[in-house]
Amino acid sequence: MSDLAFGPVPSRRLGRSLGVNNIPAKYCTYSCVYCQIGRTINLTVERRRFYDPEKVVENVLKAVEASSSKIDYITFVPDGEPTLDENLGQEASMIKSETGYPTAILTNSSLIFMESVRKDLMNFDLVSFKFDADSERTWRRINRPHPSLKLEDIKSGIRTFSKQFPGKILVEVMLVKDVNTGIEEIRGIADFLSKINLDKVFIAVPTRPPAEKWVEPAGEEQLVQAHEIFEETLGHRVELLTGYEGPDFNLIKDPVESLLAILAVHPMRIDYAYHTLKKSGLNPEKTISDLLRSGKIQKIEYRENQFLIRKLVKDGAAGIRTQDLAGPSRES
Ligand code: SF4
Repeated sequence: MSDLAFGPVPSRRLGRSLGVNNIPAKYCTYSCVYCQIGRTINLTVERRRFYDPEKVVENVLKAVEASSSKIDYITFVPDGEPTLDENLGQEASMIKSETGYPTAILTNSSLIFMESVRKDLMNFDLVSFKFDADSERTWRRINRPHPSLKLEDIKSGIRTFSKQFPGKILVEVMLVKDVNTGIEEIRGIADFLSKINLDKVFIAVPTRPPAEKWVEPAGEEQLVQAHEIFEETLGHRVELLTGYEGPDFNLIKDPVESLLAILAVHPMRIDYAYHTLKKSGLNPEKTISDLLRSGKIQKIEYRENQFLIRKLVKDGAAGIRTQDLAGPSRES
């Protein structure tokens, strides 16, 4: 397999996704403090040709041919920012017409203010963009953008794009403890996102080794708070992406496993959890106290209610699955 295409690999957001690596490491418009690829070596906003588009497509076709498993999306998810590639639109449309598979892209959205980028993104079926901060100060702290970028331009580009794009829009918000977890910041992000057309928002936490050693994932309390604030403005279009698999109601028959899978995606009020377990014929009090004692879940107080949430586990620890935190394998 070439370096320009990989997989398919499982992704909770995208199903089985075959990755396209259209940017060499590491050209990016950001140098996020949590980036799993390390600090950005080539911080740039200049769109350019990185590879011959025919070569990118040829590599994807070979990977598709070699794949024996199902493919849900062919996803641009390189070791940097994929919209830096000036041939992006051409590559996406060629891949789609040659393979017939839906195409997706994970972008940090920093260049979406450019008309040429929005035009290229129109060639995709699904666009997933990053939005970690609503205030300029927090944005500079967490994403460490190229000095020429302006957050207001990016917000305006996102608004314009979301009005025009007929495909699916996902948003990922990465929460870093004490950087973008303040209540005002969360409210600002939720408010901005509530005004654009989107399908789903994923609240993520860094679970792989970050570019900066001091980076810590948001804690369970901060996740419950963020989830509740987002849900107030965005309804049920909010999910946690914390490393555990989401619920698959067709596969999970055991009520306790099923509850654990739901709690990995949505914090649940304790009275609802009681009700669910009781309906399954279990003793809710005993089941919940056993799960709390085993450290699999945590109880959090928020606005006079008690919530249950799946307890976060550090990367590498038993039980965690981190393969789909941001699509096939990267966090762009
Ligand atoms: S996380 Fe994505 S956007 Fe941020 S520096 Fe890494 S590659 Fe760039």
